[in-house]
Amino acid sequence: MAVPPKPKRAGPGAAKLVTRGLIRACPACGNRKIFTRWVVMAQECPGCGLHFERIEGHWIGAVGINTILSFVTLAAVLIAGFVSTFPDFKVVPIAVAGVVVAVGAPTAFFPVSRTLWTGIDIAMRPLEAHEVNWPVVESSLKEDTEGHDTHE
Ligand SMILES: [Zn+2]
Repeated sequence: MAVPPKPKRAGPGAAKLVTRGLIRACPACGNRKIFTRWVVMAQECPGCGLHFERIEGHWIGAVGINTILSFVTLAAVLIAGFVSTFPDFKVVPIAVAGVVVAVGAPTAFFPVSRTLWTGIDIAMRPLEAHEVNWPVVESSLKEDTEGHDTHE
């Protein structure tokens, strides 16, 4: 006899997962107290209990997002520097700005890259029953809906 598949519980949709990721919140429940410092992230969400490193190698996606954002920012600064000083390029100030961005951007984007990647990962591989405290996740979805109703 075939075992019937377990019914899947509905977690947040892709748009909500990404939105929560962009504001450095837990994608599953929206808890915003997951960073103790800018670059120090809790291993588990204090709200829903999600273990953020869902599988070994999970953070490679966050590194990818951070790398893309940092290189795009660096390219924008360098291009803006050369365009704005054309035709007498101010190489030293442009190089200094480039170094500042090359060091600062990855640090600035670090937390967002982690929460955003976790949200994208959950959108691709939905939460499993054992991963989170479902009543917390479900009530976070309900609160958001109620919040919209009161503001309209
Ligand atoms: Zn959470």
